Amino acid sequence: MILPVYAYGHPVLKKVADPITPDFPELATLIENMWDTMYKADGVGIAAPQIGQSIRLFVIDTEQIERKEPVKPGDEGFKRVFINAQMIEETGDDWTYEEGCLSIPDIRGDVDRPSNIRLKWVDENFQEHESAFTGINARVIQHEYDHLQGILFTEKLKPLKKRFVQRKLEAIKAGKVDTEYKMRFYTGR
Ligand code: ZN
Repeated sequence: MILPVYAYGHPVLKKVADPITPDFPELATLIENMWDTMYKADGVGIAAPQIGQSIRLFVIDTEQIERKEPVKPGDEGFKRVFINAQMIEETGDDWTYEEGCLSIPDIRGDVDRPSNIRLKWVDENFQEHESAFTGINARVIQHEYDHLQGILFTEKLKPLKKRFVQRKLEAIKAGKVDTEYKMRFYTGR
């Protein structure tokens, strides 16, 4: 089932999300719905706060990127569910990549982030994993992980660009944006 994507300005996007336990109600359905919603919106990742749930869950499919552009060996795409992710370390030189976000349509901008990460998480079966990621995979994880911390990529834009997108952000907040997918805007309740 496709769910509405919560838009910039909704307080759920600014909360630090909570870990979950295996008895979380209807988790499999929720994950299924997140995939449906992400693909409908043409995204490569989506975090639970973006569908209004302040829990530490995000899903990523970077195989989609791999189909469009060549990737370096070791940076092959994957499709995975990340639950209760913990960033262990971020290392390497910062590199610039143009990010976008389903909650912030029509805005893209260069963000600097470290190139390498090490992450710990459990999958949809609550099996533990720990792994290192680089390149675009690290980048997408960093973006989605930020959602769990209540951080949006627009907060990481350079000051000039930040000022440039301010009016557009206010328009999104007010619901004045057109998308191919359904969005939910904050109405103060
Ligand atoms: Zn995002």
